[in-house]
Amino acid sequence: MVVKKVCPYCKCSFNSRKNAKVFCRKRCAELAKKRVLKENKSHMCQWCAKKFRSPEYRRKFCSESCRCNFVTSVMVMHCKKRKRPVKRSLEEVIRCSREAGLSYGVYVGINGID
Ligand SMILES: [Zn+2]
Ligand SMILES: [Zn+2]
Repeated sequence: MVVKKVCPYCKCSFNSRKNAKVFCRKRCAELAKKRVLKENKSHMCQWCAKKFRSPEYRRKFCSESCRCNFVTSVMVMHCKKRKRPVKRSLEEVIRCSREAGLSYGVYVGINGID
């Protein structure tokens, strides 16, 4: 059985004996594959170090949850640096949570009160 098909790469129509054939010639299949690889740039997730592909040039994280984890950990690190060995006063905890852009409750939930 001969089927009429349109090559998705060069848009020419061709007759194929096999249903599985997608491109008109091998070269089109190779070029199409290369183009997909080029468009989807390779990135490494800055949180879980997983490699992923995305056409977004600036993308740093493989998923939204990785992005959230990263942002939270940076905030915690930022506050820990400032942590003094003495017990922090309530005012200080509130100040630090404000600096981290978190509400007092959320901040204490992450860091606890020392
Ligand atoms: Zn073709
Ligand atoms: Zn990730």
